[in-house]
Amino acid sequence: MAHGTLDTYAPQSWTGVDDVVIVGGGLAGLFCALKLAPRPVTVLAAAPIGRGASSAWAQAGIAAAVGEGDTYEKHLADTIAAGAGLVDDKMALGMIEEAPARIHDLLAYGVPFDRDLEGRLLQSREAAHSANRVVRVKGDMAGKAIMEALIAAVRNTPSIRVLEGLIVEEIVTEGRYVAGVVARPDFGKARQRIAFPARSAIICSGGIGHLYQVTTNPLEARGAGTGMAARAGAVIADPEFVQYHPTAIDVGRDPAPLATEALRGEGAILVNRAGHRFMTDIHPDAELAPRDVVARGIFAEVSAGRGAFLDCTTAVGDRFEHEFPTVWGYCREAGIDPSRQPIPVSPAVHYHMGGILTDARGRASLDGLWAAGEVASTGVHGANRLASNSLLEAVVFAARIAEDIQGLLPSPKLNPWPASSSPSDDIVTEQDSPELTRLRRAMTEHVGVLRNASGLKKAIAEILVLEERNHNVRFRNMAATAKLIAVGALARTESRGGHFRTDFPETSDVQRQRTFLTLDEADRRARRAVGVPA
Ligand SMILES: Cc1cc2nc3c(=O)[nH]c(=O)nc-3n(C[C@H](O)[C@H](O)[C@H](O)COP(=O)(O)OP(=O)(O)OC[C@H]3O[C@@H](n4cnc5c(N)ncnc54)[C@H](O)[C@@H]3O)c2cc1C
Repeated sequence: MAHGTLDTYAPQSWTGVDDVVIVGGGLAGLFCALKLAPRPVTVLAAAPIGRGASSAWAQAGIAAAVGEGDTYEKHLADTIAAGAGLVDDKMALGMIEEAPARIHDLLAYGVPFDRDLEGRLLQSREAAHSANRVVRVKGDMAGKAIMEALIAAVRNTPSIRVLEGLIVEEIVTEGRYVAGVVARPDFGKARQRIAFPARSAIICSGGIGHLYQVTTNPLEARGAGTGMAARAGAVIADPEFVQYHPTAIDVGRDPAPLATEALRGEGAILVNRAGHRFMTDIHPDAELAPRDVVARGIFAEVSAGRGAFLDCTTAVGDRFEHEFPTVWGYCREAGIDPSRQPIPVSPAVHYHMGGILTDARGRASLDGLWAAGEVASTGVHGANRLASNSLLEAVVFAARIAEDIQGLLPSPKLNPWPASSSPSDDIVTEQDSPELTRLRRAMTEHVGVLRNASGLKKAIAEILVLEERNHNVRFRNMAATAKLIAVGALARTESRGGHFRTDFPETSDVQRQRTFLTLDEADRRARRAVGVPA
């Protein structure tokens, strides 16, 4: 691996034309880079690889119908049921059928998936799965183990150049063609930016959690990829569908640590402060109902002041420390003994079903642009992701992109263009920006678990004001994604999957279609909604 540490990496030194630039060093980015080898690729990652990526935090594992008695058809049926009418069946079936091959790849890269005494893969059960289907590592350590294995493989692959601490801010286009990306080194603090001319750019920048105040996602998941692709003209799909994880551990931490769904799969129950098991009043599958239903159930208890707690004392008890070491650690840090005490929980933004619209090969709507992982919207999740289908989607589509690029030379523009710089007024520390605080608040209050027209219009008005105030390019990417989510949510006058309208609580057959939006269209609709001239 050619490795550009920040000390040795001279800003603006890169003047060649990359063949392939990958934005993001999570599972999708690294898997794609490995699959492209020996073709030279540059991976630009906002944080050192292994950190700043949801992939490393995944607890449960990867859904794959490889167990006895399980079938692709059952996995597909569960995926379709969770997706609330909007799953693209053909895309989902293709993904599901490729799961065994991708699990095989991961084993070959050295991922130590749990096995039984006869060497068969052990599988956990998660919410809304009709079978034990989630391939795991040491109970709840899947993400960490997968990323460690891939990072080791990447470090042994000379064709992969990884540059860490570079925050990609813009996709550069020439007409419909992507011509490269522009990044800011030194974790986004450098005054000058670096241009990476490339024949193909693959966006693998993860989720959007930090557009909200309560999220399970790492700090780097802030909707940058969707925002910059939209700003470059790419079509965005299904932005309004945001999945909450029902059981974030509610101990006041940002990001909020997660109590894996596998605990509910083991039989843990949800109770309020009075000890009442409230999910049995709401859904026949109780704690194993789809995530959005469980999230709303918990949200209602928390909002009503009754509190919500995940009680694992009977279902897991003394096995907790050994079988769920990650959650055990989070609880112990907060002074909770989960083998004896219920864990306080609340819903937190967890996963974005929407993102850059891609086809079966991972191609976006701009030539030379691909996207994979959480930032992409392939249609396999519909309105609500089935648990553990996201890591599967990341590896399946990353592999397809590598194959697509190998078989295709995107119309190249080979004139190297000089590294660009940008004025210093562009540098604003985002965490400290009052506009970011306001954006996160507006998204949480008005574009969250429960939505309605008047709240969504308030959020849209706020986003327009904040865009006027803060011209920082990274803030613009975030605001663009936030605007797409809010505008998509306002247009969908029904409730479906991860999108719940208190003013339209029913699902409408007429609206059983995916959303496709450009940023120009979202901007027009936003201004119309709040009566601001375009
Ligand atoms: C706590 C938690 C548990 C989860 N558990 C599971 C599970 O058990 N099973 C499952 O299937 N899914 C799970 N998910 C979801 C799943 O982990 C993610 O959807 C998946 O890992 C996304 O992979 P990715 O490669 O697309 O993004 P990530 O792994 O998030 O990687 C994104 C990469 O892009 C970088 N980046 C971001 N912005 C920029 C930028 N502007 N410039 C450069 N780099 C950038 C990041 O630093 C990172 O390297 C979980 C998510 C969380 C948060």
